[in-house]
Amino acid sequence: MATRANLTPQHNPMQSSIPDSFTFSQSSLQDYTDCPRRFQLRYIEQLAWPAVESEPTLENERRQQEGQLFHRLVQQHLLGLPEEKLTRLANTPNLSRWWEKWLDFRSLQDFGSLNPELSLSAPIGEHRIIAKYDLVAVKPGEKALIFDWKTYYKRPRDEWMAARLQTRVYRALLARAGAHLNNGATIQPEQIEMTYWYADYPSEPARFPYNAVQFTRDWDALTKLVAEITAAHEFSMTDDEKKCTYCPYRSYCERGVRAGEGEEVEGELAGMEINLEQVAEIEF
Ligand code: SF4
Repeated sequence: MATRANLTPQHNPMQSSIPDSFTFSQSSLQDYTDCPRRFQLRYIEQLAWPAVESEPTLENERRQQEGQLFHRLVQQHLLGLPEEKLTRLANTPNLSRWWEKWLDFRSLQDFGSLNPELSLSAPIGEHRIIAKYDLVAVKPGEKALIFDWKTYYKRPRDEWMAARLQTRVYRALLARAGAHLNNGATIQPEQIEMTYWYADYPSEPARFPYNAVQFTRDWDALTKLVAEITAAHEFSMTDDEKKCTYCPYRSYCERGVRAGEGEEVEGELAGMEINLEQVAEIEF
């Protein structure tokens, strides 16, 4: 059977597969890191997501849709929409549970100045990199707190989250491009902390402070990764077939049509991430 990759037009070997206008994000960098082939299918060939060959009604994919709606509810709440109106929309068991936990969490927070749905971008190599944050809360001159809401079944290990491209890109980009949130002064890495708040584990958030050494290391690594992708002409399939379990492109790679069964495990979260880059506009 001809795979979609066979249909890719031939590239001039001297020419990058990545258009000059391409903007990198934590999602695209994570995709490349997990599986160069997934990066190629999603960002170069721009195949629809999820692939029609996947099973749309599987529990994990339904949960992902609920996760997207939860993100939108929280955003709208932070933007000031009335709680009663939003509560009516939390109308499935998962959504209603997450929403109640969110209201409890929100009532205890002194966030400072709120920046929900914030996008930051900066040049990196010959391209740009963008991050779309669930929430950045700033106390100018003091702290800049990044929050990201997660609706995972299982709480991942902190070590696993620390290594995610999201954790590295979000903190680095806030240090690089967040001065306008801090009265024009660069936000120092030591002022930054990133928190993953797990809707099903609300009292066990994962917190990641930052420092100048980490920032330098992260920005260098991200610059090298962007250069590597820009120069790449081969986008090989991952050898780690666990990464294929929930990948929407599995049928293109002849790595199974059906999604994996059972609950997600840490290493299989790749391809199932929910973030603002994927949350469609939902009208209220
Ligand atoms: S199915 Fe596996 S090999 Fe194919 S794109 Fe997804 S992760 Fe990569």
